[in-house]
Amino acid sequence: MAEKKNTKEKSSDVTEKKQTGKNKYKHLLAEYQNIWESGSSDDHEHAMAFGEDYKAFMDISKTEREFVSCSVEAAKEAGFSELSTLTELHFGQKVYHSVKGKGLVLAVVGKKPITEGINILGAHIDSPRLDLKPNPLYEEEEMVFLKTHYYGGIKKYQWTTIPLAIHGPVIRKDGSVVYLNIGENEDDPVFYITDLLPHLGAEQMARKGTDIVRGEDLNLIIGGRPVDDKNVANAYKIGILKLLNEQYGIIEKDLVSAELEVVPAMKARDVGFDRSFIAAYGHDDRVCAYPALMAIMSLDRPERTSVCMLFDKEETGSNGNTGAQSRLYEDFLVELFAKCAGVYDELLYRKTILATKMLSTDVSNGFDPKYASVSDPRNTAYMSHGIKIEKYVGSRGKSGTNDANSEFVAEVIRVFDKRGIPWQTGELGKVDEGGGGTISVYMSKLGLEVLDCGVPVLSMHSPYELISKIDLYFTYLAYKAFIEEM
Ligand SMILES: [Zn+2]
Repeated sequence: MAEKKNTKEKSSDVTEKKQTGKNKYKHLLAEYQNIWESGSSDDHEHAMAFGEDYKAFMDISKTEREFVSCSVEAAKEAGFSELSTLTELHFGQKVYHSVKGKGLVLAVVGKKPITEGINILGAHIDSPRLDLKPNPLYEEEEMVFLKTHYYGGIKKYQWTTIPLAIHGPVIRKDGSVVYLNIGENEDDPVFYITDLLPHLGAEQMARKGTDIVRGEDLNLIIGGRPVDDKNVANAYKIGILKLLNEQYGIIEKDLVSAELEVVPAMKARDVGFDRSFIAAYGHDDRVCAYPALMAIMSLDRPERTSVCMLFDKEETGSNGNTGAQSRLYEDFLVELFAKCAGVYDELLYRKTILATKMLSTDVSNGFDPKYASVSDPRNTAYMSHGIKIEKYVGSRGKSGTNDANSEFVAEVIRVFDKRGIPWQTGELGKVDEGGGGTISVYMSKLGLEVLDCGVPVLSMHSPYELISKIDLYFTYLAYKAFIEEM
């Protein structure tokens, strides 16, 4: 029997040849890399430092109102003035305007006439949470509770058995305001929603996930000691009311108009031995709002007038006069235009908006290998691969989406590529798997160009979400590139 000639090459040779072939056609392929691999050690260091500042800001701005007040403070320090205090605006001037203390708009006046268009970054600063019901306080079995109504899309069972804090304003009978922030300091008490012990949880665990904990079960324990008075009914509830009155000067009726928000009492923390991730409450969408704010504040004498818009109410549909559908945000643009142009001309204003470019800076889902089946692996964002560009969001047959114009998407990509900013793309899940919306659909109605573009998040809408530090840092660079280069 003749010896069979071995036609098979050694596998190492094949790999080497394939690698050479790949390099030859590299320019034809779209490649998306992990930035911890592709970035320089300088990039990594900057990302770690940026993460420290971000965590500190997150810990003091857990609600939209707090985000606004912290941002205004930072903006004033950076030389921004309230728009209404100035009658005209010139190159290099910096202004801000608060939208009822729950939304914020900031601008830096550019060198070019405003009629050539504006560059806008727009994020939202509200996050899923539990709001108190208008009549929240009750006593049951010698314990005192607050009833809540959840805000935004949550998995209700995730909000039990974790430390919770109460934030927000209460307007007293005489019109004065007291702002509560209880549960964040180490020596503060926290608040708590119970869950059933597994020993007795068989019926509960057999329920559908949406019903494991029901909306009406999200009642917060706030006390369990009676008032020192034997001759009174509801002694436990009165005990708490007496305390609230002594400490904050409020009575039960004041809770009707209050905007008290129940949020996780946890601080933003590094995750992993290598500290590559950050876990925090409310990354959605402060992980985009913060770098957008930092980008506008870093701007000095830009070519085009640049704006950063921070919206409330995105998680419930952008309604209300502090949401993105409110005219108050456009009012800011109108006033900015008039004070820059020296005149208010409706036609000229409309033309300015037509030449305006915007990034809707909102988060998207990161690919989670544990739950791979909900995403198309070829069209999803991977953690630490950089900012995610989403041409469209929405659900089913692209329902409820802006679907950015091709020309504009390509323009944004050119800017990112010019600055060497890694980016990736993808959809929010597989076709027909679910979907989501952002503010872009409302902003596009004005006639400006807008594209969704933000940080990938794991465990989105949970009380403690996860992001990658390197994604956060490069998103900041991407937003900065957009307002500087567009
Ligand atoms: Zn969201």
